[in-house]
Amino acid sequence: MRAKPRKSPTFHLERFRKAKLFVISAPSGSGKTTLCNKLLKDDLALARSVSMTTRPPRPGEKDGTDYHFVSEKYFKDTIKKNGFLEYEENFGYLYGTPKAFIEKSLGKGRDVLLSIDVKGAMKVRGEYPDESVFIFIIPPSVKTLKKRLQSRRSEDGEAISTRLKLAKKEMAYKKRYDYTVINDRLGAAYKKLKAIIVSELNLRRERRCKSST
Ligand code: ADP
Ligand code: 5GP
Repeated sequence: MRAKPRKSPTFHLERFRKAKLFVISAPSGSGKTTLCNKLLKDDLALARSVSMTTRPPRPGEKDGTDYHFVSEKYFKDTIKKNGFLEYEENFGYLYGTPKAFIEKSLGKGRDVLLSIDVKGAMKVRGEYPDESVFIFIIPPSVKTLKKRLQSRRSEDGEAISTRLKLAKKEMAYKKRYDYTVINDRLGAAYKKLKAIIVSELNLRRERRCKSST
């Protein structure tokens, strides 16, 4: 009879410690939300980090699912209470990652998906350098980006030009990310994104198996 592999005494702790934060950033309009929604519906069991924001909801967005839509006063009170892992201002609105959810998820060994801007992502890197995987989504061209922003119909012309100007600055952060995915055809981009996440999760499993035998 084959001996049962022995688990190391810290097996359970290792399991909890090895949960990952998948941090996804992209210039606005690149398709990050579309791709993240697909990931969350897939069989990866990722928990979504629902950000808090002072921006008003877009048509179809649900409070508590897409964002926690809050007043500026509530957001600022949460800053005072040290309730954010990170927060930033974008396009005149505040956006932040609630800290308690991240800590609770990691504590339970649950992998989390964060869809946040480049500056916020760099702060997460500072806090969780070992747990985080950074993925940058880029549009095939600036022309396509403009078209996508127009097709979404959630911003006026001025807001679209502001987002396009910022997009150029954000692209400079690309090299600080672990992976880049070009969102040209949605199906192909999704396949690549999912493959990255699956391989990162498998790497962790392999390491866990090695340390538990
Ligand atoms: P972001 O979250 O990066 O701001 P969205 O996911 O809201 O971007 O996508 C912007 C617009 O582009 C939406 O109307 C979305 O349906 C569309 N879109 C996303 N990915 C693609 C793609 N690969 N091809 C064509 N349109 C896309
Ligand atoms: P949108 O208004 O298009 O949903 O988001 C605008 C920008 O804010 C996007 O780049 C988005 O990734 C970013 N964002 C959303 N939530 C957060 C957050 O919690 N923290 C940070 N830093 N950025 C966020």
